[in-house]
Amino acid sequence: MIKFPFAQWLSFVNPVNFDFHCHSIVSDGLLPPEAVAQRAAANGVDLWALTDHDDLGGLAAARVAAAEAGIGFVNGVEISIEWKEIPIHIVGLGFDAADPVLGAGLDELRNGRIERAKRMGAALAAIGIPDVYEGALCFVTNPSLVSRAHFARYLVSIGIARDVPGVFQHYLSPGKPGYVDHRWATLADAVGWIRGAGGVAVVAHPGRYKMSGGDMRKFLDDFKDLGGQGIEVTCGSHSPDHVLHFARLARSYALHASRGSDFHGLIESYADLGKLPSLPEDLKPVWRLLR
Ligand code: AMP
Ligand code: MN
Ligand code: MN
Ligand code: MN
Repeated sequence: MIKFPFAQWLSFVNPVNFDFHCHSIVSDGLLPPEAVAQRAAANGVDLWALTDHDDLGGLAAARVAAAEAGIGFVNGVEISIEWKEIPIHIVGLGFDAADPVLGAGLDELRNGRIERAKRMGAALAAIGIPDVYEGALCFVTNPSLVSRAHFARYLVSIGIARDVPGVFQHYLSPGKPGYVDHRWATLADAVGWIRGAGGVAVVAHPGRYKMSGGDMRKFLDDFKDLGGQGIEVTCGSHSPDHVLHFARLARSYALHASRGSDFHGLIESYADLGKLPSLPEDLKPVWRLLR
């Protein structure tokens, strides 16, 4: 549980450089949690959250490293869900990492990833690329967390594409031969687990979802009804137009605004830690909800 009164401490820093979305080797990032903390500090981040996919295993080390580097730290996670069959990510912040319901829910999500990865391997074998599941495992840095990013790195290593975005474009995105449908958690699960553990739920990178405006509004209605409180407005994958658009939605849905690079490593990242535009000044930053 976060006990430090951020609002009081940060009232002297304006604007606060907070980065509440990034990954380490505990999921599909390329650096250990300690190195991510050091890079965040070197980049001028005041307040940082590590948000590995579906796993809390890096938080303890990240918290110690953040303290050593002199920056504030908030527990984080990026939970994989589907809503109306659309894969969506929900960031959780400031929760109790020892909460048993959250822990059990994430355990189940990680187990589901293994079964999905085997089906991805079979789908790629069917188009003549054998043993990709086994190959991807060589790129996995946490045995219980296998992601499409690990598949992409393996496929680059055997020369199937020049780089990771190229693999996603031709093999791992919806409609491409290595993409398989998967049952993730529900929106109610993710928001419920985060809230139940005393945390704040945030919609990750909303500009990345292939959703009509009407569906986005329905999604935000459901998210609010379930107790969701935040939305990423400034993030690594948002264009200036996305920032304006999701700032408007944050205002009209009375959501707090989050900011996150989605840093995965020196390559493969849209933005570096803390190197993002500030939030529009009238929005309420999500760190104000954390204690
Ligand atoms: P998964 O959670 O297994 O579906 O994998 C999603 C991860 O794959 C994301 O968090 C990114 O790390 C990576 N990813 C997804 N789409 C792309 C893309 N177009 N280019 C590069 N990496 C991507
Ligand atoms: Mn990732
Ligand atoms: Mn994501
Ligand atoms: Mn992410």
